[in-house]
Amino acid sequence: MAETFDHGGGVRSVRVPIPDNPLGHTLVYVVDTDRGPVLVDTGWDDPGAWDTLAAGLADCGTAVREVYGVVVTHHHPDHHGLSARVREVSGAWVALHAADAAIVRRTREGRPEQWFAYMADKLAAAGAPEEHVAPLRSARGRTLPGLSPALPDREIVPGKLLDLPGRRLRAVWTPGHTPGHVCLHLEEEHPARLPGRGRLFSGDHLLPGVTPHIGLYEDPGDATVTDPLGDYLDSLERVARLVPAEVLPAHQHAFTDAPGRVRALLDHHERRLTGLLALLAEPLTPWRLAERMEWNRPWGDIPYGSRNIAVSEAESHLRRLVKLGRAEPVPGSEPVAYVAV
Ligand SMILES: [Zn+2]
Ligand SMILES: [Zn+2]
Repeated sequence: MAETFDHGGGVRSVRVPIPDNPLGHTLVYVVDTDRGPVLVDTGWDDPGAWDTLAAGLADCGTAVREVYGVVVTHHHPDHHGLSARVREVSGAWVALHAADAAIVRRTREGRPEQWFAYMADKLAAAGAPEEHVAPLRSARGRTLPGLSPALPDREIVPGKLLDLPGRRLRAVWTPGHTPGHVCLHLEEEHPARLPGRGRLFSGDHLLPGVTPHIGLYEDPGDATVTDPLGDYLDSLERVARLVPAEVLPAHQHAFTDAPGRVRALLDHHERRLTGLLALLAEPLTPWRLAERMEWNRPWGDIPYGSRNIAVSEAESHLRRLVKLGRAEPVPGSEPVAYVAV
């Protein structure tokens, strides 16, 4: 059964299920334009999700074949998964930021074995114990989700209006959760005249009750030392400055007071960095740091895949602390340990 919601002013959302995921749903937004509906994100590539999206569009008085364009906030499979199928049926264009388009290209070209070998090396370098790394080294023939995501036809250019005839939708680059994450600012006045400037489709960047995962930007072919958490914090301030009247996120529910939510997230990360500095009174590898950090359950209960995400999160915080001059690598340590300065 389709679950659609009318946000007013020619914007509706469809709750598209994500199989086996605690987030539950992706909110796919359907924006009316003079040339047919434009979707913001599409949902997970799964038969149930597809049926829900199709039924949702019918509920909105339209159909997949009528879709004029697809704007994708970032490359993750719960957002970009069904883009190829929507394009196949409708001939719609698919737009993505260049940095995430590069990840899509790499994913399509790479083989799973290469990816597992890369992850194994990275985890070993982060200080993961051999029993954690070993399964990755022998992970031949395993598959990964979302291995052939759609190559976009168009690039989302920061600061530019997108091709939505009769509407004003401007791209705001918000790297952090992914390097090419974008929010989309619908600049028209809020349909219920809430105070503020327009509405913001925030993807995973700004969610009402969840802190998005900020890991490292995984790129086997690029040795650039990035600072995703620093990027994310800057991107948060960028969207707060827009002062949108309402935020339309890709999960959970619409909300107001974007600047308040941004402040809460900035405070959260500041507290977390301070907490990590206390832990780094003794030298720790990223793995050991992740073991000691506070998660939503004890480290021993965290499943295998989530530990990898946790280590990546620990590393992005370490990068930030090193960049701020508040921590540094211990010379000669192998794997590299970090200590507060
Ligand atoms: Zn995401
Ligand atoms: Zn998501």
